[in-house]
Amino acid sequence: MIPMNLMSEFGKGRADYAVTGNFSEIAYKEAKRYGSINVAANSGDKNHSYIPTQDQLKLDPEADYFFFCSNNTIYGTEWNYIPETGNVPLCCDMSSNILSKPVDVSKYGIIFAGAQKNMAPAGLTVVIIDKSLAGREMSCTPLMMNYKTMIDKDSMYNTPPCWDIYVLGLVLDWLEKQGGVAGMEGLKREKAALLYDYLDNSSLFKAHAEPEFRSDMNITFRTGDDEKDAAFCKQAAEKGMTNLKGHRKVGGMRASVYNAQPIEGVKKLVEFMKEFEVNHSV
Ligand SMILES: *Cc1c(COP(=O)(O)O)cnc(C)c1O
Repeated sequence: MIPMNLMSEFGKGRADYAVTGNFSEIAYKEAKRYGSINVAANSGDKNHSYIPTQDQLKLDPEADYFFFCSNNTIYGTEWNYIPETGNVPLCCDMSSNILSKPVDVSKYGIIFAGAQKNMAPAGLTVVIIDKSLAGREMSCTPLMMNYKTMIDKDSMYNTPPCWDIYVLGLVLDWLEKQGGVAGMEGLKREKAALLYDYLDNSSLFKAHAEPEFRSDMNITFRTGDDEKDAAFCKQAAEKGMTNLKGHRKVGGMRASVYNAQPIEGVKKLVEFMKEFEVNHSV
């Protein structure tokens, strides 16, 4: 939807993409169907274990927008700064870290996030858009893919997923009681620190992401031995800690500690990692 809405003519627009993981790579490939796309940076040289710094970004000052994904769900990296792009609007996929910390939305042109990580069941996408960007769509952009339609019709041009929206309302009430996004930020820091501090002192497990760019939502790690990784996931599952197997693109393990994961869950995982390390170190 972003190229269809921000490139005013099919095939004539230009955009910058930072490819830092799976979802930004998909977005980049999709965008290429609509205009000329410049890869502003690509962390694929080190299996997306880092985020490019501001001076590594090769920016096109004439771009219609700059696209990035703030948290790389599969690789476990997170942008620790907001890119500076002059007058080029920032478009950001925040699907896996929205509501985990305060965000200055005025710095962005478009923020979007699928609900299914930190907000509500799948089927709903939240979009925060600078209204001055609406109305530049290509003439071939379908009504349903046009942000202006959604703005003009108060997000009810079609029947929205009412149950998802209702659940999101409940989640937001809960979130407010936890101290809002500032409260969530404190909690996620505490949870991630428990895991990273242990990983940095472990002689068995190694974290995938470089320290400055580590995600507080998705913590990726491995032993370096596929058999031990598999044994770890199996034994963890027997203790009720499921879905720890990493995505096949990274291997190893991934602990996703979204807002809904209580700190007790993280403590239990770290306890088990320590126990496993004692039993499996050479
Ligand atoms: C999960 C996720 C998506 C998309 O998820 P779908 O399963 O395709 O709805 C997109 N971007 C990011 C960063 C994600 O974490």
